[in-house]
Amino acid sequence: MVITEIFKSIQGESTRAGLPCIFVRLTGCNLRCTWCDSAYAFHGGKKMTIEEVVARVEELAGRKAGSAERGAGDATQRCASLAGPGQTAGGPRKTSAMPLVELTGGEPLLQEEIYPLAERLLAAGYTVMIETSGERFIGRLPKEVIKIVDVKCPDSGEPDTFDTKNLAELTENDEVKFVLSTRRDYEFAREFARQHGLERRVRQVLFSPVFEDPEGKWPGLEPRLLAEWILADGLPVRLGLQLHKFIWDPATKGV
Ligand code: SF4
Repeated sequence: MVITEIFKSIQGESTRAGLPCIFVRLTGCNLRCTWCDSAYAFHGGKKMTIEEVVARVEELAGRKAGSAERGAGDATQRCASLAGPGQTAGGPRKTSAMPLVELTGGEPLLQEEIYPLAERLLAAGYTVMIETSGERFIGRLPKEVIKIVDVKCPDSGEPDTFDTKNLAELTENDEVKFVLSTRRDYEFAREFARQHGLERRVRQVLFSPVFEDPEGKWPGLEPRLLAEWILADGLPVRLGLQLHKFIWDPATKGV
């Protein structure tokens, strides 16, 4: 598979925001969102085998490569403290929390190896999340993978790309995310969520304002404005800010 980067950071988005997480960023995307903050993953990358990716994840998780069984025990202990009392880092598994791995991109579902990779990471005891544009079918992923599925809004430059077959595949462990750059995007997201009863289908519906490009290529949406719109309409959604852009410089890669 072709990989742009593998790194450890703090999860910046979703209901797991704030938790330590290992990110595997796959190279390539078939969309071109106007405000894309990971365009550096469109091209290039490094060819790696699934084994090499898993070994790097194990290394970042502090496990010895090839000792997944022992590592899983270590990880359970460590992650109990990551998730906090009475809380698990993963969705369906309530008895033990495990280190979090996010598969992202680019668009991770463009590479066929994503399926065996997800299986390998789950078998090694990780809580596996995937962040996807919503344009690809999510139904081939193992059901234990937590899916964070975007629905592209009109001003993303990639409207009408959501595969509606994905609606039937979403579970109560998954999350649907709308990245919003304008009032028009907000109204689209509000109506889409209502029309499809999203809050009953998934763990969380996320509304995230576009963060202004540090190089001035696109404007941001003021989070305060979005908060006021959500409150005025009484929407059952979570306002999502990209935590990593507040912790580190917004232009920093690999965080
Ligand atoms: S789908 Fe994601 S990676 Fe692809 S262009 Fe849009 S924001 Fe960028």
